[in-house]
Amino acid sequence: MEELYADLVVIGSGPAGQKGAIQAAKLGKSVVMIEKYPRPGGGCLHSGTIPSKSLREAILNLTDFHKKSYYSKQDVKEQDISINDLNFCLNQVTEEQIRHLNRQFERNKIRWIQGVAHFENGNQVAILDDNNHLTHIITGEKFLIATGSKPRNPKNVPFDKEMVLDSTRLLSIDHVPKRMIVLGGGIIGSEYASFFSALGTEVVVVDKKEQMLPYLDKEVGQHLQAALGKIGLKFLGNREFEEIIRHPNEVEVKFDDGTSLKGEMLLYALGRVANVDHLHIENVGITVDSRGYIPVNALFQTIVPNIYAVGDVIGGPSLASTSMEQGRLAARHAFGAETHHFPTFYPIGIYTIPEISSCGYTEEQLKNLGFRYEVGRAYYYEIAKNTIAGNDPGMFKILFHADTLEILGIHIIGRDATEVIHIGQVAMTYNARIDYFIDQVFNYPTYAEGYRIAALNGFNKVKHKR
Ligand SMILES: Cc1cc2nc3c(=O)[nH]c(=O)nc-3n(C[C@H](O)[C@H](O)[C@H](O)COP(=O)(O)OP(=O)(O)OC[C@H]3O[C@@H](n4cnc5c(N)ncnc54)[C@H](O)[C@@H]3O)c2cc1C
Repeated sequence: MEELYADLVVIGSGPAGQKGAIQAAKLGKSVVMIEKYPRPGGGCLHSGTIPSKSLREAILNLTDFHKKSYYSKQDVKEQDISINDLNFCLNQVTEEQIRHLNRQFERNKIRWIQGVAHFENGNQVAILDDNNHLTHIITGEKFLIATGSKPRNPKNVPFDKEMVLDSTRLLSIDHVPKRMIVLGGGIIGSEYASFFSALGTEVVVVDKKEQMLPYLDKEVGQHLQAALGKIGLKFLGNREFEEIIRHPNEVEVKFDDGTSLKGEMLLYALGRVANVDHLHIENVGITVDSRGYIPVNALFQTIVPNIYAVGDVIGGPSLASTSMEQGRLAARHAFGAETHHFPTFYPIGIYTIPEISSCGYTEEQLKNLGFRYEVGRAYYYEIAKNTIAGNDPGMFKILFHADTLEILGIHIIGRDATEVIHIGQVAMTYNARIDYFIDQVFNYPTYAEGYRIAALNGFNKVKHKR
């Protein structure tokens, strides 16, 4: 057993823990990071963001997805793409990311230790190995809980490794299924459903809501549904599952309206839960909220001031992007560096095929709030770059104040949406008006031209009133 001291003890090596650890090291603090899994990177690298986005990229490349729409061809043989082809791409990315992480830890003198951490008291954590043997006691000045989340596994769902899967188990399947049922039309369910559809699997998504991703701007949601329909994805709304039955070669789901569905595989994508089970936070007086998350203040401090919590373990928005910034801000506050509150708006990226990204208000929110707004739209078929790249479906939608012209919301669906959104994000951060996009010169041809086309479309609707 080894005893150690660190200015900051980080529990969890996902994006929240990494950025907290690096920020503290940059402030000259000694940092120890504890990670349960044998390799660093967190759920983000081993079961969440990175594997899912690597699979997406591999599927788009291996199926020649964009070429198909360009040449209006459907003759790429998806059945030729094996799970090994997909895993090959995925493993390359994982290995490179781990190498990069280890280099960062080394450069910043961050020591990471494998094991499961729990609090002994407000100044000490203990680390247990896989056999529950105590390996380390670490005394710290500040602590950062960044233990993330895992898929919700209710007892009435007969999970296994082949047929009834959650988003982590899905990464170990040994073949590409011909028919798949996805329970849950949230981000994770919708993304994977679209990936498998693009791969040629017959996919049905089922949700108790009327549409997939219901919090999207409605028009964008309709656009998504139409695009997914074109690649063969089926959506069934307004039904909840009652029972999941594993038959020898297929899985059956029975719904509350008396209907049932059978598939070769089922992806259960109905929620995640915070990783708090081994932490013994009760030893320091922290209790979770009604949804199982660790409560924090605006500075990410728990009820115990020297213990911070960040990332998925504190609940929404539960994104790698936001978790990183939370980790960085928490470490800055912990060691008295100048800091700021978490930004009030940030982009949301959804990597369905086609991808979606948005920033600011939806049209429905503006209506409810009673804003006087106008809308500018640009369809992807109006953008020269899209014609050159392959005629994919898509749309820019910019919502702006009808009197002040201030931009209130930007919603993009289509190729490169998660990249080009940042132009709009910067404009909104500096309170730009819609005519900003008209008065600037943009590279041509680019997807970003969509901003100009949408701005002109919107501006022309209000200019006679000005
Ligand atoms: C399928 C999927 C796709 C996603 N796609 C995106 C996306 O495209 N973009 C995006 O921004 N976000 C995405 N996310 C969300 C993103 O992955 C998470 O928000 C992010 O990983 C949270 O980071 P974190 O650092 O809080 O936790 P995690 O990345 O979950 O890391 C937590 C780590 O803590 C470790 N740990 C837990 N308990 C202990 C303990 N007691 N002792 C030691 N170690 C412990 C765990 O082993 C884990 O490695 C996706 C998630 C999923 C599941």
